[in-house]
Amino acid sequence: MMVSQGSATTRALILGGTSDANRLADATARAGIDAVYSYAGRTQSPVGQSLPIRTGGFGGVTGLIAFIRAEQITHVIDATHPFAAEMSRHAVAACAALKIPLIALERAPWTRVEGDRWIEVDNIDTAVAALPETPARVFLAIGRQHLAPFAAKPQHGYTLRFVDPPDGKLPLPDPDIIVSRGPFTLEGDLELMRTRNIAWVVARNSGGAGARAKIDAARALGLPVVMIARPALPERRRVESVEEVLAWLGHDARLGA
Ligand code: NAP
Repeated sequence: MMVSQGSATTRALILGGTSDANRLADATARAGIDAVYSYAGRTQSPVGQSLPIRTGGFGGVTGLIAFIRAEQITHVIDATHPFAAEMSRHAVAACAALKIPLIALERAPWTRVEGDRWIEVDNIDTAVAALPETPARVFLAIGRQHLAPFAAKPQHGYTLRFVDPPDGKLPLPDPDIIVSRGPFTLEGDLELMRTRNIAWVVARNSGGAGARAKIDAARALGLPVVMIARPALPERRRVESVEEVLAWLGHDARLGA
């Protein structure tokens, strides 16, 4: 069903790949808003959606513009991961070029609480530099495409956690690999860190509940966390809740509940 606002018809594009995007897709479908959900196509068995799905890169800003035109998209919702900066930049550029509205559904970053031993850094290279010289067991809770710089500190034993088993050789010496899809629990991550004698955690400041267990576990165990800050993005409208996105689309969230 399409939702009409005056004479205009809404057709939304949700840039997804996160649990927030999945919740938004559910709410959008329930509200009867016409929408398409887009996956980058990184994971082997992505979560099913109650909206039509398209998968794979668009082909840069030009490809995204062509898609938006061809699909007669009227609103774009960037619900990608806060570290998916390239997609977010492309969305800003494409929507500006087409003069169509864009909103980002982005969870707030985690903030330090009492007991946290964070070393805050700006990027992957400074995260590598923040690790000690003496060998330690490190839980490297970052995406697989960012592992290579840690090869500069091969003395550490790295534990990695992925949604899918790696399909090729990883750039780190003899990594300990866990294949598991979140959300993760405090008990589970405490167990992981205890049984593996983890002494350091490296994490990106993703925010949200599903990935925060490792931060809470590190605090409980008194472990240092090298916390990588989010990439800077161009100015855009940003909200933190699905309800705010629905309201922005001109829909009362209560009507679709
Ligand atoms: P990225 O570096 O910002 O994007 C690289 C390219 O992948 C984009 O230029 C685009 O290709 C394509 N792409 C990314 N997200 C897309 C989407 N939702 N639909 C269609 N194409 C997409 O992104 P990334 O960090 O590799 O993340 C890829 C996906 O995984 C995103 O959907 C993100 O939400 C999800 N994810 C990422 C992380 C993370 O830590 N980065 C964590 C959890 C989930 P074209 O230029 O060809 O259009």
